[in-house]
Amino acid sequence: MENTQFDPADFTEIQNKLLLATGTSEDLDEMLQSFMIAATEQLKLSNVYVYLLDSVSTKSDNNAKDSGFNFYLSYADSQNQLPHLHARIQSSLKQFIPCDEEAVDIVEIDGLHYLMYCLKKTGAIIFELKHNGFQASMLTPVMDRLSLACSICFSVGKLKNQIRLNKEMEKAYEKQANQDPLTKLPNRRSFRYNLYQEIANTKRYKHYGAVLYIDLDHFKNINDSLGHSVGDMLLTKVADRFTEDARVGDDVYRLGGDEFVYILRNVGDTETLAMSTAQAVARRLLDAMAEPMQVGDYTLHVTPSIGVTIFPNANNEDSDSESVLKHADTAMYKAKSDGRNTFAFYDPEMQVTASKRLILEDYLRKAINNNELRMEFQPIVNIHEEIIAAESLIRWHNPALGNVSPNDFINIAEESNLMLDLSKWIMDSTCSFIKELKSVTAGNAEFRYVTINISPKQFKQQNFITNLIDTLKFYDLSPDDIRLEFTENILIDNIDETVLKMEELLSSDIKFILDDFGTGYSSLSYLQKLPIRTIKIDQSFVTNFKSKTQTNKAIVDAIIAMADQMCLQCVIEGVETKDDADYFINKNVYAMQGYYYYRPLSAHGLIDLLKHDEKKAASE
Ligand code: C2E
Ligand code: MG
Ligand code: MG
Repeated sequence: MENTQFDPADFTEIQNKLLLATGTSEDLDEMLQSFMIAATEQLKLSNVYVYLLDSVSTKSDNNAKDSGFNFYLSYADSQNQLPHLHARIQSSLKQFIPCDEEAVDIVEIDGLHYLMYCLKKTGAIIFELKHNGFQASMLTPVMDRLSLACSICFSVGKLKNQIRLNKEMEKAYEKQANQDPLTKLPNRRSFRYNLYQEIANTKRYKHYGAVLYIDLDHFKNINDSLGHSVGDMLLTKVADRFTEDARVGDDVYRLGGDEFVYILRNVGDTETLAMSTAQAVARRLLDAMAEPMQVGDYTLHVTPSIGVTIFPNANNEDSDSESVLKHADTAMYKAKSDGRNTFAFYDPEMQVTASKRLILEDYLRKAINNNELRMEFQPIVNIHEEIIAAESLIRWHNPALGNVSPNDFINIAEESNLMLDLSKWIMDSTCSFIKELKSVTAGNAEFRYVTINISPKQFKQQNFITNLIDTLKFYDLSPDDIRLEFTENILIDNIDETVLKMEELLSSDIKFILDDFGTGYSSLSYLQKLPIRTIKIDQSFVTNFKSKTQTNKAIVDAIIAMADQMCLQCVIEGVETKDDADYFINKNVYAMQGYYYYRPLSAHGLIDLLKHDEKKAASE
């Protein structure tokens, strides 16, 4: 080692340079690097090593007491970086623990001198000396400053780390708050925010956007029959299919349940172009969903009903995000009532219909308790015009709305949760009437049963059959006193389950009629599957028969011939005129019903009529 004397005058300058080198950066590594370079130059060192207390960067300073020193950084002028050297340095550094105050020592390792400074609560810096010309204490102010600079860098580092963690947490929280956990699609909250922004964009850049509101048809049935886990898997698959389908820039969101929405951005700068683009997307979506989906062991076919609205509208009214969503939702209901698996555009008229619907639903909720409902009975005759049965039909008179047709409220009851209460009321009223009817018309040989219309929701009720049997028992009726009328709608979702239920009904001697045959989902193939004995041809084929087209006549003739081949009884409804009646009387039909014969009658009207019939028969 050279024995160079440092001139005290020079040393003041060296000290100043080193003091300056402690404040170059708030980043520990950068600050130490520049200090080590300066120290190597100014003090003519071979190597500089920095060791840190292993606790400082991770734990609080209080835990420093038990810690050792770990090598952290070095600045090498020579290549003296041997592992055993580090072991010796580490063992010499132990004397500084707990490292609560600055300290200094000089040790000799392999003939070289190492000046070790303990940096308070941080670590130690070790100078490998080439020269032995300065006293360790001369560097005390520099080391004080270096300790302080290290602490500041640590604090700043911790603070930065905390800020980074906070930002990460904030991002994770944002993601969670905006994401649907099941499908990983953005959720309702995110939808609202993005729609709000998109509406502002369309107004600013003078173009149109569109919202597609998608509800899966009969999804609840899948949940109810196959369980929620299958339902959840299906929703995830549907979400994947939607995501695959979306164009770049269009977003798909899950609002909840089986409801999804698309925001289509910039669909054109005229209303017509916007509508045709949105329509093309809706069509594409229907196509995308037409392929069945494999969910576990099940191959499921779900169809969507899609409501479409474009924004902003012509006068910029009603173009806030709340209204746009409401419009798309209203249009979706229109798609449902158009038969599902289709799309409908919003039209302001719909809003009127939707609010009327809500009003009706509200009144209907109170109708049973307010005694506003009653049943009427429409006679059904055989080809000799003798009354063989009657169909029970509900009537609703509301003081504010007047008479409301079942065509206007049965669907509403079906789609809200009112149908089950209503069905119970219908069943009780009809059965109690049949009991009365039987007691007063016991002598009428021709009259056999009353038919009761059954809604799909009622039919799907789990305890539908037991409830029905209990009701019959309660009113002391036999299964043969009634016939159930189902429409083809009960077949849509799960034909196998429907067949099972029908067979169960038959095994309890309860018989039924397929109503409105020829409309909706008519398929001759299902007729073979179903244990059906009677069909009622829908009145739309019948009423005003003379003026009907040849095709209509051909269809009706074909249905009658087919029913005959399959040994099904055929009932014709909606017979309004003598002409209608004459046409069918010569066909092979079982019975007829319509205004030509009788309009629906009150309970007592039917009783009187049947009593009169009895008298007529007795006097003949
Ligand atoms: P539906 O079961 O097909 O009932 C026959 C409908 O045709 C009845 O209408 C009846 O009044 C009407 N009608 C009978 N003869 C003629 C005719 O010659 N010409 C014309 N144009 N119509 C005729 P209503 O009572 O208005 O009922 C309409 C529909 O509402 C029913 O069709 C049925 O689907 C439903 N509905 C009625 N009552 C009930 C009920 O108690 N329960 C359930 N679930 N649905 C019911
Ligand atoms: Mg009917
Ligand atoms: Mg009918």
